[in-house]
Amino acid sequence: MSEPIPPGDNACEDIRTSMSPDALRKAIEDHLRYSLGRPAALLEPQHYYHALALAVRDRMQQRWTDTTQTYLDLSKKVTCYLSAEFLMGPHLGSNLLNLQIEEEARAALTALGQDFETVLACEQEPGLGNGGLGRLAACYLDSLATLERPAIGYGIRYEFGIFSQELRDGWQVETTDTWLANGNPWEIVKPELSYQVGWGGHTKVCADENNNERVRWVPQRVVKGVYYGTPIQGYGVNTCNTLTLWSASAVNALALDAFNAGEYYRAVQDEVVSETITKVLYPNDEPAVGKQLRLAQQYFFVSCSLQDILHLLEDFAGRSVRELPDRVAIQLNDTHPSIAVAELMRLLIDERDLDWDEAWRITVATMGYTNHTLLPEALETWPLPMFEQFLPRHLQIIYEINSRFLDEVRTRFPGDEDRVRRMSLIGEDGGKCIRMAHLATVGSHAINGVAALHSELLKETVLKDFYELWPERFSNKTNGVTPRRFLGLANPGLRALLDDTIGGDWMVDLERLRRLEPLADDPAFQQRWRTVKRGNKARLADYVKSTAGIELDPEWMFDIQVKRIHEYKRQHLNALHIISLYNRLKKNPDLEIAPRAFIFGGKAAPGYTMAKLIIKLINAIAETVNADPDVNRRLKVAFVPNFSVKSGQLIYPAADLSEQISTAGKEASGTGNMKFMINGALTIGTLDGANVEMREEAGAENFFLFGLTTPEVQQLVSTGYHPSYYIEGNEELRQVLGLISEGRFSHGDTEVFRPLIDNLIHHDPFLVLADYAAYIDCQDQVSDTWQDPAAWTRKSILNSARSGKFSSDRAIAEYCDEIWNVQTVRVGD
Ligand SMILES: *Cc1c(COP(=O)(O)O)cnc(C)c1O
Repeated sequence: MSEPIPPGDNACEDIRTSMSPDALRKAIEDHLRYSLGRPAALLEPQHYYHALALAVRDRMQQRWTDTTQTYLDLSKKVTCYLSAEFLMGPHLGSNLLNLQIEEEARAALTALGQDFETVLACEQEPGLGNGGLGRLAACYLDSLATLERPAIGYGIRYEFGIFSQELRDGWQVETTDTWLANGNPWEIVKPELSYQVGWGGHTKVCADENNNERVRWVPQRVVKGVYYGTPIQGYGVNTCNTLTLWSASAVNALALDAFNAGEYYRAVQDEVVSETITKVLYPNDEPAVGKQLRLAQQYFFVSCSLQDILHLLEDFAGRSVRELPDRVAIQLNDTHPSIAVAELMRLLIDERDLDWDEAWRITVATMGYTNHTLLPEALETWPLPMFEQFLPRHLQIIYEINSRFLDEVRTRFPGDEDRVRRMSLIGEDGGKCIRMAHLATVGSHAINGVAALHSELLKETVLKDFYELWPERFSNKTNGVTPRRFLGLANPGLRALLDDTIGGDWMVDLERLRRLEPLADDPAFQQRWRTVKRGNKARLADYVKSTAGIELDPEWMFDIQVKRIHEYKRQHLNALHIISLYNRLKKNPDLEIAPRAFIFGGKAAPGYTMAKLIIKLINAIAETVNADPDVNRRLKVAFVPNFSVKSGQLIYPAADLSEQISTAGKEASGTGNMKFMINGALTIGTLDGANVEMREEAGAENFFLFGLTTPEVQQLVSTGYHPSYYIEGNEELRQVLGLISEGRFSHGDTEVFRPLIDNLIHHDPFLVLADYAAYIDCQDQVSDTWQDPAAWTRKSILNSARSGKFSSDRAIAEYCDEIWNVQTVRVGD
């Protein structure tokens, strides 16, 4: 350590709160010595990361406490955002940005002989989510804090987050994500804020003091949920909200009177079983059937969160539960937390002795539900026998909710028993099950979709009957992304250019990007714009070289598709385009085509065989294309392993072309599409999800549109779709499929891709072949436009300039005004 800490009255205070580079440096040294206890000779960048993180947390602590203090009396309404996933991304960079002390931290590290970027790169991101849904929750927390709205995020502290992806011989291999291995400097554990959660057992009827009949749940097991708080600092404000994550532990660890070894080890076993609940995040896109641990996770975090909310309301704020809807808005992020409807009823009726009608009024007035998918296989249901075994009291409550609800349906639609069956909370198809989307809908006063098209389709398809009953409950809230992380942090080059040309307010008012419009044709500005993009592409090329071992030329078009691998997202359509270009070049190696680097990234659910085969196909094409001198002067293909928020921050800003090519009607919104647009990528896309609104904002001439529309998809499917028809009519498509089948990309192996080809030829559930010709035509237009740099750059600038709508600040302001009725509260004024 270079110098001792100077003595003095304010030394302690200063070292924890002062934002000066010198104080930060001393704080880092202090934490290295006293919190990490590392001898100076053994210090590595990882330790500087940890010490800086602790120093930054200290600097948020006063605001965090003040914010909590300001909200604690609940004199202003608070949003409680319940989500089984929060995909936060690295905290350090975002906290430095939001505290506006990036330069100070850089100077402090430099003074300590450390490289700022290297130290920041040491953070293992908390991968507590699968993809878009979890990332949305994280963007919303950032916006709530920045807009100074009282908010608490509630979720699960998974010990192992989303698996890490490695590629071996082109196949995805999963490894455990050990994000907590080096400790987590951001969280504060508060064991005194623990709640007990039951599981299994039976119910019994008893009488309360007024001799009214009351039901009590006698669980078979009880586990404890332990509170972990993480600060969520708003940008440029004092507000520092909380993300509360629950970790499961045994109630009375080893406290049994264990006089013999058998009892002792049984007690240990109990602890092991309890702690299993929050062990690991489930990957999506896999059937949840029979996964009782997943139901346990959902109930566990919902029960802890609701108990915490009622504890705040009654014990801290000293208010009655009858005030709940005026003090708290609870938002259900998809159906994962929808057991909250039954659990809140149980807490009100069984544990507070409210009568049914009042409890129901409170519940519905408090809850809101966001739907995230129309895919029938993704709509959550639980087998009734399993549900009954573990949550017997909740099943009774759901039966009662259902019976009262179906009476209402019968009154409104007399004689329509078909409708009653469709709307029931209990499904009958293939064994009885609980329909969680119906539970969430019936228990909420507000139901929303996540893009204009999606919200319309909700009303026409999966929730049609509910819309007809309660049209006033439905609305749309188009998703957004935070401009702080995905522009300010991820794209420092563009940030500097924007600050220099249109001023700094864009980070809190993204609509101000419109001031770029007059510059779109300015040659000097265009040149600066291209220089920034070129720098971002060079940065990504370095990353691709070091992670995938493939060299890319930053002068080429970077054509990027990063997102979960799923058939509906159609990475295989993209692959067919690459093979088409390959085929053209093999026939005519002198063909003039715009040079492109195709970059992919994304994880496949471990049990999703077809998605894993698509990854293998992309890597097989990459191997062949990159090694073939006939084509590798024009085409390169790279699959970046382990796509995450961290790698995304390098990838999104480097795109020239963003691939948003899902089958129309299948992608609820997408948010990756928005991250690309904000950073100046042009989009090739279908009329799906938020693409529709992005194209409206950008102007049709600045968006590469192709493919069937949702009504055309519905029409084609309902009249009988025959992929063979499209193969017969298209020679190029026939050749492309033939190349895969004959083993051109698999060293002559004609078997490996057969399941994929057979699926396309005989079923093609996502209409890849029906959209192939239109996609290829559109890609040819993309190539033509690329040849005219001024035209391309103009479109790129206009895409950024018109992306303001897709800020999560806009989305959150809508939720606050139209669903939650949550106002701005200044902290520390
Ligand atoms: C934004 C994001 C997603 C969502 O991408 P879509 O293209 O909307 O599917 C998924 N994963 C990560 C890591 C993200 O940052």
